Amino acid sequence: MRDTSLLRTEITLGGTVQGVGFRPFVYRLAQTHTIFGTILNNEEGVVIEAEGTESALTDFIKMLQSDPPPLARITSLHTKNIPTIKGFTDFSILHSLAKKTTSAIIPADISTCNDCLCDISDPENRRFAYPFTNCTNCGPRFSIVKSIPYDRCGTSMKSFPLCDLCRKEYEDPDNRRFHAQPNACPVCGPQLTFHDAAGKQFSSGSPLEATNRELSQGHIVAMRGLGGFHLVVDAVSDKAVNRLRKRKGRKSKPLAVMAADLVTASSFCHISKAAERLLSGPEHPIVLLPRKENCLAASLTPGINEIGVMLPYTPLHHLLFREKNCPQTLVMTSGNRSSMPIFTGNQEAVTGLSGIADCFLLHNREIVTRVDDSVVRTDGQNVRILRRARGYVPSATPLTHKLPPLLACGGGLKSTFCLTRDKEAFLSQHIGDLFNLESLDFYKESIYHAKRLLQISPEAVVCDLHPDYLSSRFAKESGLPLYKVQHHHAHAAAVLAEHGIDEKVLALVLDGTGLGDDNTSWGGEVLEADFYGFKRLGSLSPMLLPGGDAAAEAPWRMGVSLLHGSRQKWQSTGLSAIEANKQQIIRQMLEQNFNCPVTSSCGRFFDGIAALLGICLEADYEGQAAMEMEALAREEKGTRSLPGLLNSCNCQVKTKNAGQRLLLQQGDLLQRVLTLQNAGKTAAAISLDFHLCLTRYFFTLLKEISRKTGITKCVLTGGCMQNTMLLEGLFILLEEEGFTVFTGQNIPVNDGGIALGQAVIGGLLHVSGSTHESA
Ligand code: ZN
Ligand code: ZN
Ligand code: FE
Repeated sequence: MRDTSLLRTEITLGGTVQGVGFRPFVYRLAQTHTIFGTILNNEEGVVIEAEGTESALTDFIKMLQSDPPPLARITSLHTKNIPTIKGFTDFSILHSLAKKTTSAIIPADISTCNDCLCDISDPENRRFAYPFTNCTNCGPRFSIVKSIPYDRCGTSMKSFPLCDLCRKEYEDPDNRRFHAQPNACPVCGPQLTFHDAAGKQFSSGSPLEATNRELSQGHIVAMRGLGGFHLVVDAVSDKAVNRLRKRKGRKSKPLAVMAADLVTASSFCHISKAAERLLSGPEHPIVLLPRKENCLAASLTPGINEIGVMLPYTPLHHLLFREKNCPQTLVMTSGNRSSMPIFTGNQEAVTGLSGIADCFLLHNREIVTRVDDSVVRTDGQNVRILRRARGYVPSATPLTHKLPPLLACGGGLKSTFCLTRDKEAFLSQHIGDLFNLESLDFYKESIYHAKRLLQISPEAVVCDLHPDYLSSRFAKESGLPLYKVQHHHAHAAAVLAEHGIDEKVLALVLDGTGLGDDNTSWGGEVLEADFYGFKRLGSLSPMLLPGGDAAAEAPWRMGVSLLHGSRQKWQSTGLSAIEANKQQIIRQMLEQNFNCPVTSSCGRFFDGIAALLGICLEADYEGQAAMEMEALAREEKGTRSLPGLLNSCNCQVKTKNAGQRLLLQQGDLLQRVLTLQNAGKTAAAISLDFHLCLTRYFFTLLKEISRKTGITKCVLTGGCMQNTMLLEGLFILLEEEGFTVFTGQNIPVNDGGIALGQAVIGGLLHVSGSTHESA
């Protein structure tokens, strides 16, 4: 006979269980399993009170874990049997409780789902052509949340009271929009408006039609989107792209595009299966893809054969592309002024983008938190996030150690910060280069907001060794105990944290710049490192950086410096475009050792070589010289296999002992480059040869250090590891040699990742009671 006696159980679930359709899912599950009781969101996640037979409860709990909604991620599930039966007669969803602490996670913004896409495409549907359509499975989240728990009144949708029909959906557990906080329709929700360059609103006609008209004429539209403004132009028209470049003062930095769909995208770039999944996944990031020749405007990515592509991720984007004769590929670049944060507010954008935008497509749903488009790459298997923002933030990175609540402040370029809570780290969205007050304001606001949402009050702060970074100054002003972490140690620790590696590894950190503990600039380092410390066991030989960090903007200076440092005082044709007297000034600085700090930076070495090859003399953006060199190398390589090329590379790698450190003799590599140049080899051929040799150089350095230390686990990180030829080459050689190799995947290898490394290193210092600066 079936046991029909009732049991009562309390089930607590943690993780991403709010704002992802979890409660309606549980409601429906309860119905099918004849479970009575309640569910509510609290700060820890979700609490279910369930009464039913033993077998019904067992099945119910099993299904909770095996078949949750697509966007939910359960990280913990606890059950507690309660002896007394309450005698529930139905299953109901209770109002959220707000308490003092929280560990629930706000979900990230999610691209439009297929069901919503059907809704806006169906002329019979009341949401036909409505640009703010969303449901529990898609739509804005992080960008509109003001406070927790995640409920409509805690978002910027608070100012749009639901109409009767929307309210019905919102309250109906069987509806796809049940408790969809941003739920809206043309009657009650946000609206689009179209404005001229001065911000004056056009009251007649459709805003999307007007936008399309402007785009078709080659004009620049500033469009308010999900996490901020985009500047939009027709991506096929060189004239339109150049108009945007000129007005934005952005000479050559690559511009990302949005294609109407996959078919359109595949007409101008090569899309692997893995890339296709990324392009169409819930995050909808910008994916960097190999560009086909003679498609789209050439001026989109000068000197680079890769292009950043994304697909429409809001109904607004989909609808714009459906306008009659709308260009099917649009440049969608950050709606900001050079090096400033992207605009989010209507008024500030109209003022701030005046002189750049020809017109404005605005809407009235407030963007609470600015989130840029994320940028990723894939090697066919793994995702590598280069800019972590929309779609990925604010998800947590699980840690191997429990840490005190603290704030890690990041670096200077591509800034992010990181907050910790127990065994979780929350790396912020990409903030940008912290060089001006506007970015600093965005940085401060974001820290304030994240502390509130996550309910974290830091006990300590962590920053970079560099005292002049605005993030370091901000850390110091906090008055909290302060820990300083060396830049490349933080790079290494970020990879260790991401992969949960709690042991000593050899970290090869190839980077633009970072202050070393000897007060010189580093960036071509092998560190023996774990969370607790590091030893600098190898590096490039010291080079001179004429004019200090300013040299990064003028690769030709590094070219002059490399020549000056070479034994045979060679000349190079590559520098001929630089006036003789300008070169002479730099040579004098080098001879008198005036303002020429020492560096071991791999990024600067790339700069120097690229300049000598005449590839890039002045850099318009960070890493330009290395990127253009890699593009040439890739072209030259063609379809030949990288392992084959690496094995046939005949360079002789020499190292030299300097105390405990092994120095790579990259001067030999410079000689090789110049010899090839004098022999009349093309810049592309030399670039390829240089990549192969440099890979072998660092491989040899790691091998020699591994022989001494016995360590065979290896981490590859730093901004230069965004160079895929170098990264792939190192993976090939190291794995062939028996090394276990790790690199940043969900956490950027560039400076966008260092805050995570800082957090773990600083947190463990704080726990151990180490000395710190202020108290
Ligand atoms: Zn949807
Ligand atoms: Zn409505
Ligand atoms: Fe760095």
